[in-house]
Amino acid sequence: MISDVFCKIITGKIKADFVYKDNDFAVIKDINPQAPVHLLIIPVRHADSLEDFLEEKDNELLGKALIVAHRVAHQVGIAEKGYRLIMNEGEYGGKLVPHLHIHLLGGKKLGPKIVR
Ligand code: AMP
Repeated sequence: MISDVFCKIITGKIKADFVYKDNDFAVIKDINPQAPVHLLIIPVRHADSLEDFLEEKDNELLGKALIVAHRVAHQVGIAEKGYRLIMNEGEYGGKLVPHLHIHLLGGKKLGPKIVR
């Protein structure tokens, strides 16, 4: 039984602020926002990382993640001015939650640095 925090959120065991949900993806507000808009695009199916999306049958789902991100950016009013998508992967990438997710950040002009 997989019990990372995002699985618990998707199955309703932990509360979160959802801004979008379909059969494939949930989008929630990050609990510790790093920008005025900081959302997380999370696949409903548990997957630790991109390592779990290496098969051709996964192409569609992975592509949909970006479409969902852009749709939600429209929904929350940041698509026109722009936003940033980030994925942290593994120890060196600074990943904390072992469930694939994409950060969607925006709502202000973000700094030029993506590496610190
Ligand atoms: P990372 O794994 O480093 O890419 O980032 C995980 C993100 O999940 C962090 O930005 C956390 O603030 C966020 N996070 C952790 N727990 C929760 C939660 N219960 N609800 C919403 N966001 C969370």
